[in-house]
Amino acid sequence: MADSAVLFTNVRILDGSGEFPYTGEVLVQGNRIRQVTRGGSRFSAMGGGGLGNGAQTTIDGMGATLMPGLCDGHLHLSWNTAGSLEAIQRMPPEEHTLFAADMAKLMLDSGFTSGVGAASAKPRLDVVIRNAINSGQIPGPRYRAAGPEIATLGGLGDTSPPHMEFPELSFGMVVTGPEEMRRAVRQLIKYDVDILKLNLSGEDITAVRAEETPMADEEIAMACTEGRRRGKTMAAHARSAESVKLCVRYGIRNIYHASFADEEALDMLEAAKDRHFVAPGLAWLIGTARNAAEWGIAPGSRLAIAYERELEIACETMRQMHRRGITVCIGGDYGFAWTPMGTNARDIELFVDLLGFSPMEALLAATRDGGAMMGMGGELGQIKEGYLADLILVDGDPVANVRVLQDKSRLLAIMKDGRFHKEPRMAEQRRRLIA
Ligand SMILES: [Zn+2]
Repeated sequence: MADSAVLFTNVRILDGSGEFPYTGEVLVQGNRIRQVTRGGSRFSAMGGGGLGNGAQTTIDGMGATLMPGLCDGHLHLSWNTAGSLEAIQRMPPEEHTLFAADMAKLMLDSGFTSGVGAASAKPRLDVVIRNAINSGQIPGPRYRAAGPEIATLGGLGDTSPPHMEFPELSFGMVVTGPEEMRRAVRQLIKYDVDILKLNLSGEDITAVRAEETPMADEEIAMACTEGRRRGKTMAAHARSAESVKLCVRYGIRNIYHASFADEEALDMLEAAKDRHFVAPGLAWLIGTARNAAEWGIAPGSRLAIAYERELEIACETMRQMHRRGITVCIGGDYGFAWTPMGTNARDIELFVDLLGFSPMEALLAATRDGGAMMGMGGELGQIKEGYLADLILVDGDPVANVRVLQDKSRLLAIMKDGRFHKEPRMAEQRRRLIA
C-alpha cells in the first residue's frame, strides 16, 4: 500500500529559504514533502489520482501561511517552571518524567516540531522523553537529548551545600580532573544521550560569575575526546569571552549564551562559523533582570543590575555575530518560573527588536538554522521537495508580524513527520478523502 498523502492547496508558502511567501501547493506523502508547486493547482486538478493507491486528504488553506515547524535551539524539557536550580533538581523522578512529557506536548502545541536539548535535570530524563516521543508513546517535538550539565567542583551546577556533598543534591554532574570527566561522559554515553553539555563559564546567580571560566583545559579536552569517540555532539554553557574561545579551540558545536565574547572570540568564531551554532538565551536575561522579583531577584538589586548589564552586552555581541555571518539560533532558556515554557516563539520577536534581525532573518533562525542545528540541515527546517514534513499552517503573515506565532489559536494546523498533531480547523468543510 502506498503512503497516504496530504495536499495543502491555496496556501502562502513561507519555505524557509529566505524567499518571501508565494501562493502555491504543497504535497506531503508519507513523512516527506513530495512536491512544492507555485501558483497552480497541478495536483488538485489531478484529483489526487496521480498518487497511486494511497488515500489523499486535501486541505484548502484559504490563504493561510504554510511554513516549516519551529525549532528551539536551547530547549530544556525538564526545567519545571521553578525559581531556582535546586527546585528543578529536587523534583522526584516520577513526577519529573510526567512533567517533562507535558512540556514535550506543550512545545508541539506551540508550533515547535523540533528542539535541541541544552541539558536535562536528571541523567536519563531527556533520553527517556526522546525515546517516548520517537516511539509514539507521547506527543512532542523531534528532540536531541542532552545529559545534565557537567560542572566543575564549586562551579555553576554544583548546588550541594558544603556540609552535604552528595551527587544527588547537585543540579549538574560535578567533576574535578580529567578522569572524573571521563567517567561522567562515559556514564552519559551509556545512558544514550545525543548531546554532552559542559559548564565552561559561571553564571551570576551562582558563586562563580558569568565572566569567570572555571573548567580546566585538560577537563574539556577529555570530555571532547571521549564524546567524539562515540559521535556525540558537544555543547557548552559559555558566557565568558574565554569560554567562547575554548568552544572554538575544542570544536564545541553548540555555544550557549556567548554574551561576553570579545573581539578575539568573535574573530575565532567567524573563522569557524560553519562548525558552530550560538543561542544567546535572551528571554532568560530579560526575565531575570526584570520579572524575577517574586523569586528573590528584585529589579534594581545587585543581581538584576548584573543581568541588565549582561543583556545589553549580549545584544551588541549578537548583532556583531549576525553581521559576521555566525549562525545565531533562537532558544531563550525557557522553563524557569519567569521564562515559562510554551512562550518560546517570543524569541523570534526579540531577535527582531533587540538584535537587528529582519523578520525574515529571525524566522530563518527559527526554522532553517534550527534544522541545521538539529544536525538535519539537508532535510529539516525548510519546505523543499524531499524534506521531512514538519509544517505549521498559520492564520496570518509571520513576515509582516512575527508575533502571530506566539498565539496558539492562530496555529491552524501542526504537522510533524507527515502526521497531524493538530488537524486544521477548516477540515470540517474542506477535507475529502479519495480512495
Ligand atoms: Zn539553558
